[in-house]
Amino acid sequence: MICPCGCGRRLELMLLKGVKPRWDLDVDQHDFPTLYPSVWVADGCRSHFFLRSGRIDWCNDYPSHETVS
Ligand SMILES: [Zn+2]
Repeated sequence: MICPCGCGRRLELMLLKGVKPRWDLDVDQHDFPTLYPSVWVADGCRSHFFLRSGRIDWCNDYPSHETVS
């Protein structure tokens, strides 16, 4: 999939069993995919989001634990 933030990065989501890190993909009765756990782009745009029922749910918490006080 392409990163939903618009940076154009291609995210390699490894769904193959036995490959880590990996995500579990569920598809509901309406063919909407749900992915878990959340996806975090560790480099580049550092997007952090969930894919729930085909919708992107952004996690806005990610800068908080990196705040330099
Ligand atoms: Zn991005």
